[in-house]
Amino acid sequence: MYRVTIDRDACDGVFACLTRDPRFVEDDDGIATLDPDADPAPPAESDDGTIRETDTAVVGEFADERVDDAEAAAEACPFDAITVERVEGEP
Ligand code: SF4
Repeated sequence: MYRVTIDRDACDGVFACLTRDPRFVEDDDGIATLDPDADPAPPAESDDGTIRETDTAVVGEFADERVDDAEAAAEACPFDAITVERVEGEP
């Protein structure tokens, strides 16, 4: 399992992330959020995950093969607004 966190205070809407991982989308505030349904070609056995939103963060937890995409999005973010954690012991 892996956890993707978007720091909404750090995000500045550059959207380098969504070219690396299509689950990143722009929300009504012009800030990145997560929408698993936005992936136009999800791999087999992709996981819609669970998405939680607070005033300051969007947190998605997934158990599929797209952790590399999420990490590429995190590396592309010029504001280090995205954190990807691999959670050991979970599928
Ligand atoms: S690349 Fe970073 S700053 Fe830009 S929209 Fe994505 S999370 Fe926000």
